[in-house]
Amino acid sequence: MPPAEGETRVQVSIRLRPRVAALDEEEGGGDGERIVVEGSRCVFRQHAFQFANVFGAAATNEQVYAAHRVAVADVLRGFDCTLLAYGATGSGKTHTMMGAADGSEPGAVPLAADTLFDEILARHDDSTSFSISLAVLEILEERCFDLLHDRATVVLRSGAPAGSKGGALHFHGLEEVQVRSKEQLVAEIERGKRARTQGETYRHGCSSRAHTVVRLRVEAARLSLSDLSSGVLTLVDLAGSEAATLNRERQRVSEGIAINKSLHWLKAVVHALAAHKPVLHFRNSAITRLLQPSLAGQAVVAVLVTV
Ligand code: ADP
Ligand code: MG
Repeated sequence: MPPAEGETRVQVSIRLRPRVAALDEEEGGGDGERIVVEGSRCVFRQHAFQFANVFGAAATNEQVYAAHRVAVADVLRGFDCTLLAYGATGSGKTHTMMGAADGSEPGAVPLAADTLFDEILARHDDSTSFSISLAVLEILEERCFDLLHDRATVVLRSGAPAGSKGGALHFHGLEEVQVRSKEQLVAEIERGKRARTQGETYRHGCSSRAHTVVRLRVEAARLSLSDLSSGVLTLVDLAGSEAATLNRERQRVSEGIAINKSLHWLKAVVHALAAHKPVLHFRNSAITRLLQPSLAGQAVVAVLVTV
């Protein structure tokens, strides 16, 4: 069921990554700390956490995505959907969102592209026309870049006063790309991925210190009724949630602080939304500013915690 008028539904799921030899040996080869799964609860350090879904190490990207498919399809009906992958570097965020590095298993982004185009075909009648606009963005140290246009700088300016949920957001310098087919959409996203920043971190060779944002704006025009609905699907591969102190180099440390600051404000926003409290922190970081219009009601926010 889509969210009710004015409702922002927050849904938090967890995904446990299977052991990956190259990564887990570096941790000392031990089992690490145990997370005990009890149905939809996880127990960690004697604390129990309740989740909408718990995906074990054997779960596939397809299974993880399937739990969010309905919310993605509802974007065609004018609802907003935001899917955030949150976790430490190496926990499986990019695997979950973009897919396996070797291309063997598509992630939530290409699977969502399938959903949108499959649903458009399935519903197609001559009375509704859909238009899809794509942006692939990166947020690095509070600055926003258009990955489909040579990393052009994008300035986010919100019209809404601090503390209010709605209001227009202007992406100055952003050029959206009109997509007409699934193949074009997937190709454009691949092009955006290649324009990402890659940094060497202390823990892992090639990890993203930036947030990668795939934003799909879908407009549906019902010709006979001259009405237009607009929904936004935002898929975010967040930067690593590990402590800034893990980073060795000086510049990396400053980036780490910026990352943690933005994750801090994102957490504050998600907590407030989940508790149905007023959200006061949208303007405090670029990522929350970018997400603000999609959290303005009749929206789904799904957080996928990878561990
Ligand atoms: P992150 O983006 O959170 O830093 P990655 O998605 O890059 O982490 O995952 C780190 C490594 O673990 C990669 O080599 C990835 O292929 C592998 N990996 C992550 N999740 C899974 C999974 N569910 N199944 C198999 N391999 C995985
Ligand atoms: Mg990653």
